[in-house]
Amino acid sequence: MHCPFCGTHDTKVTDSRLVAEGDQVRRRRQCAACGERFTTYETAELVMPRVIKGDGSRESFDEQKMRAGMSLALEKRPVSVESFEAAVERIRQRLRARGDREVEAREIGEEVMEMLKRLDHVAYIRFASVYRRFQDLDEFRAEIDRLAQEPSAEPDEGRGHN
Ligand SMILES: [Zn+2]
Repeated sequence: MHCPFCGTHDTKVTDSRLVAEGDQVRRRRQCAACGERFTTYETAELVMPRVIKGDGSRESFDEQKMRAGMSLALEKRPVSVESFEAAVERIRQRLRARGDREVEAREIGEEVMEMLKRLDHVAYIRFASVYRRFQDLDEFRAEIDRLAQEPSAEPDEGRGHN
């Protein structure tokens, strides 16, 4: 860490503590050359990838928009707030875990569908019918038939937490 006052490389940490409920590390540093003290803050980088829209334009990831779409699909369905939040968190993790700086909107839609499919089949069908725009009624029925063969499951079932 360079000293912001004289630019030397030789600075040392004099104190280090967790702040912001453990989400941040605050470090007190002192420059060995000029003796000035300064503070640095360290946080984990939890940046979501930017979204590439269908027309090629980019926008920042909009979690509220994603939640709104999911909530609409889950309206009046027997899915707890905990399960909903776990699904949202899981989608965020999966998108970050790709390590890509940009992700196509379509891929986010696929992740959401994947999670909804595990949460509630009706919600999944609602979301998918809007999102995937089933080509025709036969394709829509085929998907419903396929789902009828699969049991619903909680998103974290069999995977453990984190
Ligand atoms: Zn200095």
